[in-house]
Amino acid sequence: MSGEKIRLNTDWLCDCGGCHVAIVDLHEKILNVLESVVIQHCPVLTDIKDYPEADIGIVTGSIRTEHDRHAAEEMRAKCKTIIAFGTCAVYGGLHGAGLAHSREEIMDHVYRQSPTTITDTIPDTEVSQLAKLVTPVDEVIDVDLYLPGCPPHPHFIFEGLASLIERRPPRATQDSVCGRCSRQMIKGDATEIKNTYNHVPDERFCFLSQGHICLGSATLDRCLAPCPNHGVACTGCAGPTMQILTEPYLDIRTEVAERMSRLSAIAPETILAYMERTAKTQYAYAMATKMIGSKPTFLIKKWIADVEAGTNV
Ligand code: SF4
Ligand code: SF4
Ligand code: SF4
Repeated sequence: MSGEKIRLNTDWLCDCGGCHVAIVDLHEKILNVLESVVIQHCPVLTDIKDYPEADIGIVTGSIRTEHDRHAAEEMRAKCKTIIAFGTCAVYGGLHGAGLAHSREEIMDHVYRQSPTTITDTIPDTEVSQLAKLVTPVDEVIDVDLYLPGCPPHPHFIFEGLASLIERRPPRATQDSVCGRCSRQMIKGDATEIKNTYNHVPDERFCFLSQGHICLGSATLDRCLAPCPNHGVACTGCAGPTMQILTEPYLDIRTEVAERMSRLSAIAPETILAYMERTAKTQYAYAMATKMIGSKPTFLIKKWIADVEAGTNV
């Protein structure tokens, strides 16, 4: 039996499974965790349908169905401490991009149009129905610790678990991805927004300096910046920085437009308009959270209002 070990439950809601894989990705550090923890309910490791009493509960994924809601409530009822684990749980994650489409469009695409899952039937009784909105976990149950990231980097997973096991506050900085990026911010001469299909950026310099959108300055570092350090601009998968979330008139697009216009020859209005046109991409990970949905970002407000009113069919 577990003895003095800390009892851990995990469960996944609407998600891709990547956050559970990330826990296994702790590599040898998983042994340190297992010295102190006994894993009980865990969809990828145990075949237990009910929810035993636990000290720590890791919830991954957002809430999009009645099943998700029920699972989240069961986890809250049985676990003393709940971690919202991963960007889906914290901000709604990529599923939030579904708010740009009606439920009918989503079901039709998944069950009829997708090349790998074409059927004639859209299930309406066997599976839990899609709710109107995608909901981050803390809008349904109380959350004690937030660990964004898509998935969170093992460094931050270990630190989060260690802080709970050792009963101390987590040591996590509030830095943006730029803080870990090795690219140099210089004043560039780009006059238009570029993409990797029409321009190869110089690996020494900041993407923004070269006319490429990079969300690093608006994104919380929970990943150690692998993308910009390996040739790919940051798409914001760990979700916004605390500054973006807490300043009412600061937004992902305003932060990026302001910084990019200083580092290039592109007018801020041009960048703002581009980011609004491509909002489904720029806000893909965080648009489901009210903290971002309430920002003055026209398209997201409209999409959510359309979904709520049922006029986006
Ligand atoms: S946060 Fe990313 S990795 Fe984790 S479940 Fe969501 S989509 Fe998957
Ligand atoms: S904006 Fe992107 S490329 Fe520029 S410093 Fe920040 S993370 Fe690096
Ligand atoms: S650099 Fe950006 S896109 Fe890449 S893992 Fe980090 S937050 Fe996600």
